[in-house]
Formats: sequence, C-alpha cells, structure tokens
Amino acid sequence: MLKEDYEVVIGLEVHAELSTKTKIFCSCPTEFGAEPNTHVCPVCMAMPGALPVLNERVVEYAVKAGLATNCTIARDSKNDRKNYFYPDLPKSYQISQFDKPLCENGYIEIEDDEGNPKKVRILRIHIEEDAGKLNHNEFGEGSLVDLNRAGVPLIEIVSEPDIRSSGEADRYLKKLKSILQYIEVSDCKMQEGSLRADVNVSVHKPNEPFGERHEMKNMNSFKSIQRAIEYEREAQISDNENGVKINRETMRWDDVSGKTFSMRDKEDAQDYRYFPEPDLVAIKLSEEYIANIQKNLPELPESRKARYLEEYKLSEKDSRMLTASKYLSNMFEEALAICGNSKAVANWLLSDVSRILNEKELEPDQIPFTAEQLAKMIMLIDKGTISSAIAKKVLEELFETPKNPEEIIQEKGWIQISDEGAIKEVVMRILENNPQSIIDFKNGKDRALGFLVGQAMKETKGKANPQMLNQMFLEELKK
Ligand SMILES: [Zn+2]
Repeated sequence: MLKEDYEVVIGLEVHAELSTKTKIFCSCPTEFGAEPNTHVCPVCMAMPGALPVLNERVVEYAVKAGLATNCTIARDSKNDRKNYFYPDLPKSYQISQFDKPLCENGYIEIEDDEGNPKKVRILRIHIEEDAGKLNHNEFGEGSLVDLNRAGVPLIEIVSEPDIRSSGEADRYLKKLKSILQYIEVSDCKMQEGSLRADVNVSVHKPNEPFGERHEMKNMNSFKSIQRAIEYEREAQISDNENGVKINRETMRWDDVSGKTFSMRDKEDAQDYRYFPEPDLVAIKLSEEYIANIQKNLPELPESRKARYLEEYKLSEKDSRMLTASKYLSNMFEEALAICGNSKAVANWLLSDVSRILNEKELEPDQIPFTAEQLAKMIMLIDKGTISSAIAKKVLEELFETPKNPEEIIQEKGWIQISDEGAIKEVVMRILENNPQSIIDFKNGKDRALGFLVGQAMKETKGKANPQMLNQMFLEELKK
C-alpha cells in the first residue's frame, strides 16, 4: 500500500479566551501578565460557599462567534460541571457546557489544497472557564499555582473531522482567528495562550471507517500544529503498514525533537461525570436578543474581500491576503483614505511590509508605524520626491524608528534628483564611461539601456529619477 493511498482526518478543538474585562463568574479582571494571584477572589479561588454569577458579556461574545461562523444559536442552554482533578483547577471541576451548548451546526469556509472553496463544519461552540496555571519552580522544588487565569472566559469551537491535510488545518485556524479578531471577541494572542488548539489526527484508507485518533492538546503555534500533523500522519501510516494497532491516546508534541509522545489514555465523556451546574440558572435567549447581535455584527473577512474586489479592483489573491488580518486591512483603508492610491498601498503592505513582518516574526498589529506614515511615503513616490528604491530604505527606517517619512529623507539626504541639469550630467558621464553599451544599443541590444540606467542609479545611490534617466539616455542614444 502506498502512503498516498491513506487519507489523514483532522478535527480541531479551539479554545479562545474572550476579551471581556472581567472573568466569567466573578468580577476579577482578565488582564494578562499581572503578578501571580492578584486577580483573584473567593469565587475564582473556589472558597466554600462562594457562588458564581454568569457574566452576560460572555454569552454575548459567544453568540457573536456563533453567528459569525454560521451556527444556530440555542434559545435554551445551560452550564454543566465537568469533574476532574488537576492542581490548577481549584474547584476540582470546571464549569462548562455539555449537552446544551450555546451554538451548534455552523461552518467556516476555507480553501482546499487545490484552491477550491470548502466548508469545514462546526459541531458546536460552548462557553467555559479557563483553569489557573502551574509555574514550575526552576530549582526543582515543586510547582507554584497562579490563579489569575482561573475563571477567564473561554469559548471552545469544535470542528467536525472535515479537515484533510495540514495545509487545510492551517487555513482553518487562520480563518477562525481572523473571524474572532474581526468581531472583536478575542485578541487571539497565541504567544499569551489566548488561542490554542487541541488537534485530533487519524488516518484511514478511503472507503474504510476512520482510524483511532491521537489528540495533541493545547498547541499554540500554527507552525507546530502543521509539523505535528505531518509527523502523526507519517507515524500512523507506518504503524498501519506494520500492523501496529493505534489506540486512542493523548499525545504531547515536542517542538525540539519534532516528535509526539504518548501521555495518557484519552478520557471519555463519562469519565468527567458531567452534571448540570446547580449554582447557575439556565441561559434563555430571546429572538430580539439574537437578532440584535446579528444586526450589529461587524463586516466579516468574506464580505470585506468582496468589497475590495468590487470597490478597489484588487485581485482575488490580494483582497484575500489583505482582509485575512483585520489590522492589515484597516491599515490599508486608512492609508488609502489619505493617499488615494489603492494599488500602491496594497502592494506595499503585501510585498515589502509583509516580507519584513515575516523576517522579524511579527504580527500585523505589531507594525510600529502608522497608516498615515505609510500613506505619506507613497505620496512622496507619487510626487517624484523619492524613487521606489529609496522608498524601500524609508520603509526599513519606518520599522526601526517610525516618524514622518519626509523627516527621514531630509535627515538621510535621500531626496530624489529630478533636476534636469544634474541628471544630464550623470547621463553624459555614464555614456562616456561605457562606449560599448552605446554600440550595443545601436546594434539593437535594448538591454544596454537598462544597464546604463542601472549604472546611473548606482552612481546616484538610487536617488536619480528613473523615468527621467530612461528618457534622457534614450534621447542621447538616438542622436
Ligand atoms: Zn474572581
């Protein structure tokens, strides 16, 4: 049997921390990065007798997420206790939702590996509380618990096992992240754990039932998720081929060795002894409540993309890439409003800005300069004050010390030479030094012109106006 004859089947359970100001069942702040155990109270520390009160904002945010992912919103929903013991879970149970989640049966549209549209179904979205965090003592003297995160609201978005490659998984996660950022229910900062995924992977031969799956918990890097899926796919196919039985297991991904390791057998729902949370009332939502959230839902990536195609005549690919990040597309719109050059703004953001972001491993919302500064740089090119070659250097500067691009080019002496006399002088000097190029050009080698312009650009350190150079060289060569 060939490797290609197997199909990988992937399902994702994504936990997103909601960006409410306070926790799900108490009024402690949710802010990240505070001193340990300073955002706590009797409720989130599980003192006897302390009672939870559901934060209405959490329901609103979850409904928003449900509507943005095409889910049906339950009019009647409830909370349940999920019982398990873990040192960072002070109550020894987590308040979650079991059989009546807030949102069900949605989907997210992605592209498959051939670039065709594909719907990944969403089984459910439910609300629950986050656990605390164990800080392992560096001297090996045990672990300290920090309960600041205990009770931070989460939504868990459970997909159906519709994903068929690591590429599809990546696109699904990025699309989901983008949607949650557009509707402003989560900051999705993966490095702070605001967005993390449990990744379920199995393999089977088409026409046969799904295989037993391995689950990798709490993964918070897109790159690691892709690598882990690829690793599991290979390992499971090889086990299948060698007659090794695959059991349902929880695995741990190790980024350094690039391998997964078995942690424990997977619990079944019955191991958690779910039962309705007796300290909270049922969640009943009216039609008006849901309709009102639907009405106020902001523009989503799909409709914004369609608008870019229509309004700014951008290409399908450019529109998709710009709208993938709300921050980037907001920046596009702001810069465009100032300079009026949609093509140039899109090009700069998608080529040079994205390249530098990649190199520096930054997210779009970490771009240090403003839309206005970018727009001003583009206006300087359009006016002929700087060439695009100089603009690339200005952009590097904007990443280092963001300020008005005019100031940058003044300080650096990067203003483009558009003075006819000065350009002529350079043209004549270059021609004098390259007699062979003149002969080549006269013999029909058009490349010679490009060479001469290149020499002139080099001599002026990229400051000469390239259109003027071109024109003047042509005039002289045709004499
Ligand atoms: Zn609290």
